[in-house]
Amino acid sequence: MATVSSKEAARAAELRELLDRYNHEYFVLDAPTVSDAEWDALFRELVNLESKHPELRTPDSPTQRVGAAPSAAFGEYRHPVPMLSLGNAFGQQELRQWNERVTRLLGAAPTAYVAELKIDGLAIALRYENGAFVAGGTRGDGSVGENITPNLRTIRSIPLRLSGKPPDVLEVRGEVYMRRSDFDRMNERRIAAGETAFANPRNASAGAVRQLDPRITASRPLRFFAYGFGEAIPPLDATSQWELLEQFHTFGLPVNREAKRFEDFEALVTFCESWDAKRGTIDYGIDGVVVKIDSLDQQRRLGFVGRDPRWAIAFKYQPEEAQTRLLSIEVNVGRTGSVNPYAVLEPVQVGGVTVSTATLHNQDYVRAKDIRTGDQVIVRRAGEVIPEIVRPVIEARKGKQLPEYELPKKCPACGADVFRPEGEAMAYCTNGSCPAQFKERLVHFAAVMDIEGLGYKFCEALVASGLVHDVADLYFLTESQLVSLPRTGEKSAANLLRNIDASKHRPLWRALYALGIRFVGSQNAQLLATAFPSIDELASASVETLQATEQIGPRIAQSIVEYFDQKPNQRVIEKLRRAGVTLQGTAATRPAADGPLRGKTFVLTGTLPQLSREEATALIAGAGGKVSGSVSKKTDYVVAGDAAGSKLTKAEQLGVKIIDEGELKKLVAK
Ligand code: NAD
Repeated sequence: MATVSSKEAARAAELRELLDRYNHEYFVLDAPTVSDAEWDALFRELVNLESKHPELRTPDSPTQRVGAAPSAAFGEYRHPVPMLSLGNAFGQQELRQWNERVTRLLGAAPTAYVAELKIDGLAIALRYENGAFVAGGTRGDGSVGENITPNLRTIRSIPLRLSGKPPDVLEVRGEVYMRRSDFDRMNERRIAAGETAFANPRNASAGAVRQLDPRITASRPLRFFAYGFGEAIPPLDATSQWELLEQFHTFGLPVNREAKRFEDFEALVTFCESWDAKRGTIDYGIDGVVVKIDSLDQQRRLGFVGRDPRWAIAFKYQPEEAQTRLLSIEVNVGRTGSVNPYAVLEPVQVGGVTVSTATLHNQDYVRAKDIRTGDQVIVRRAGEVIPEIVRPVIEARKGKQLPEYELPKKCPACGADVFRPEGEAMAYCTNGSCPAQFKERLVHFAAVMDIEGLGYKFCEALVASGLVHDVADLYFLTESQLVSLPRTGEKSAANLLRNIDASKHRPLWRALYALGIRFVGSQNAQLLATAFPSIDELASASVETLQATEQIGPRIAQSIVEYFDQKPNQRVIEKLRRAGVTLQGTAATRPAADGPLRGKTFVLTGTLPQLSREEATALIAGAGGKVSGSVSKKTDYVVAGDAAGSKLTKAEQLGVKIIDEGELKKLVAK
């Protein structure tokens, strides 16, 4: 065995001290000062040192103990069976090593495994006697936790009485957590009330559960999932983890429905890996998957070592949060002219991806979070979401004065004044022909019109070259102009021209959306394209006519009218027309010359059972009828489906005939 150097011994002592302090901050004060990734790295370093030199492993080392000693502010909650932590597997290889170890210890491969999402909350124990909830506590140091019974009673997903036939005594274990959506809403309310925002759902949950006043706990949106048990008298009927989860369900305990049982280890590995990419799609945070041996008998045979059971392991993901330095706050200019601040960060790994910028939304957001250049900041990247700054680490300022953030008063791209309209969170560049705005509009136009090869970089080069001044100029580009651009050969120029040409035949709604009219997103554009047969009819519609279209409110109507009033916009539309871009509804939406519905006007509302809106429009138009977006006295029929909106009410008021999809089909078949 290698002899311990004094350097290693000193480092082990230092790591023990650091981890003890961080454990206390995290588990007792609910106010961590380092990221989980940093904690994990220090913990690993200590585990490695101790396995190299077992004599460094003191009995009170953080690697041998669970959590931290409970706070004296609460009464004691004694765990009848120790409440353990979990060993970690970072990546497939470590999961395989764990599987080999348990197979060796059992003398055969486990019969089955259960994989459960590792909910990122706070572990608690709930004691039920004769089906009634009598006491509950935190994990604490694994043998004694904090008695937080009154607080737990306020969590609505914790049943106060179990249903079915639970054992006389049952200690249920599980996780208290907060949904992301609830957490965000709670933080918005706190910011509005001038209170500080919570750092993340995990800390907010832990803080809320460990309150001295249960009324505070009651006001926080906490939830619970059950996943294990401590004591059961008489023993539970379940012989496996899977049956246990099913029994919990019959007892009325909330069980996470994403859990899965596997007999095949490879399928289990795929499951563990697949949730990493999917974790942003669920409304609660997970930091991995917990893999458990299914058979309770095999679990007992495996037992535990130190602070971890041998029969379970946490397959951990790269954390979604990390700490780094905010180097500067820059701004970019959006296609509507909005001036958007963003953070330039010292590059850092978050959730397996290097992050060097994060969105900051607007000046109020930066001020409310008190984010300042030079700060250490916590960066979060959840699923596909753009990285954001959760909070600055105020303690890391160490009293240093950093200046508060001011949005620039001039547009960084064109130098025009930046103006913030009253009551709006965003500030805008006031120059309609600002090149930065135009570049963003062009990128948006190219994306919506599905012009392959016309990405961000190419749009940037086009604007810089002065070859295009508005989006319609795209359709008048020549090959020789394109090859004059950097890194553009004849072949790519020809391809691009072909793709630009193909975009002329996109449906009307795409052109409406691509123009970038304020508040007209893809959904509104589709509504407008069904309600108005051509761009000309839309352009000449009054605010009132527009507002009569379902889901088009006064703000959108006003913005559409303002858009078409502008001379430069009218010129763009004329140029698009000359280029041959589709500015009318398709033939399918234009009424056929003859048919059983000739001369009849229809309005569609709600979701029809079988036909989509486009299909219903095509069916009516094919039979000679016209589909209009708004109900008036001239409307002959309103075809109503599920969740029909204001048009149905209007039809009733005006006495217009209301029919369903079946009746429409009968009329067409006449
Ligand atoms: P752990 O979080 O790695 O794993 C054990 C815990 O997983 C259980 O106690 C339980 O709460 C939870 N869990 C969630 N779903 C589960 C399920 N389906 N089945 C079983 N358990 C489930 O270990 P730990 O000892 O609770 O905490 C250590 C971790 O906490 C570290 O890896 C680190 O990320 C974090 N930590 C951070 C700091 C800090 O200062 N940032 C300090 C201490 C600990």
